Amino acid sequence: MIPYLDLKSINLAHQDELRTAFDTVLNSGWYIMGKQLEQFEQNYAKYNQTSYSIGVANGLDALILSLKALNIHEGDEVIVPSNTYIATWLAVSYVGAIPVPVEPHWSTCNVNPSLIESKITSRTKAIIPVNLYGQVAEMDKIMAIANHYKLSVVEDNAQAQGALCNGKLAGSFGHLNATSFYPGKNLGALGDAGAITSNDEALIKQIKVLRNYGSQVKYYNEVKGVNSRLDELQAAFLNVKLKYLPSDTEERQRLAAIYDEQLAGIEGLTLPQNADYCTSVYHIYQIRTPQRDAIQKYLTEQGIGTVIHYPVPPHLQNAYSELNYQKGDFPIAEKIANETLSIPLYQGMTEAQQMQVIEKIRTFFNL
Ligand SMILES: *Cc1c(COP(=O)(O)O)cnc(C)c1O
Repeated sequence: MIPYLDLKSINLAHQDELRTAFDTVLNSGWYIMGKQLEQFEQNYAKYNQTSYSIGVANGLDALILSLKALNIHEGDEVIVPSNTYIATWLAVSYVGAIPVPVEPHWSTCNVNPSLIESKITSRTKAIIPVNLYGQVAEMDKIMAIANHYKLSVVEDNAQAQGALCNGKLAGSFGHLNATSFYPGKNLGALGDAGAITSNDEALIKQIKVLRNYGSQVKYYNEVKGVNSRLDELQAAFLNVKLKYLPSDTEERQRLAAIYDEQLAGIEGLTLPQNADYCTSVYHIYQIRTPQRDAIQKYLTEQGIGTVIHYPVPPHLQNAYSELNYQKGDFPIAEKIANETLSIPLYQGMTEAQQMQVIEKIRTFFNL
């Protein structure tokens, strides 16, 4: 059995440090908004090369609070990728705005900036590019469009912590950048957690108030905020795991390079395509083939775990039936949904495990 992802082994690799982190918090008697969070916010801002980082409860909240701080509300339109995890769209809906989808490049699966301008109207207020699967969107081009039309940019960096775009780190391009430390993300907590990074002091100040009931001084509420705090335990765990993110990333890239080499040139099989302006941190390694369902079934029978990221694009989800999109409206996103399959890739995966995955895929294609 080769699992798609082995979170247990990823975390057990650091069990002594994680247990010490737990004891530190337990013994501190202080469990919310304390030293661990403060430390993590500093550490993550430094890692991400931004002036500020603030911890929040999860990645979806990081997106919602970013849009709230930018004063995006009912009647506004926000440009989103047609190919993304639904959280990107949901954040827009939660502030009352309308998600306006833009198709990706088939090659990188990330939003195609040249299709953005035709979707901009007088109601457009922001763009949320997503750094999908570990690869950064074309942030330089997107920022140039945003500056020209005076739009805000919230980078959804839940999947690309540590990736580079023209030498600059993912999560440092947008006016606000949202990320997630959901356990399966490249930097994963042992529960839910998220953060916002930015160089904009005024926006960060607002979000600090918003995430904590709209209050700066306890029991005095300036605005109607929410409860979206990153707790001390998760912050302590993340302080441990952040130290290993650079070496984890290198390991993921090394494994991806082996797949690239060993699976190259198979007819009917598309491998992840990296644009030359950026690096990928391979949050997932996705293969694409019109025979997706058959190969997934075959790999399952062979004891190899796989996941589809994602089987239904947001515009065809029941949750978005009110927008009245039909099959065929966003054909590239739909083709990705029909053909994509994520194969096992995680730090700690052995060479023997990876060779078995490769061999089974080659066998499926009669090689
Ligand atoms: C995981 C993810 C989110 C949401 O993060 P949560 O912590 O699960 O709320 C948002 N956007 C993308 C692209 C994601 O992959």
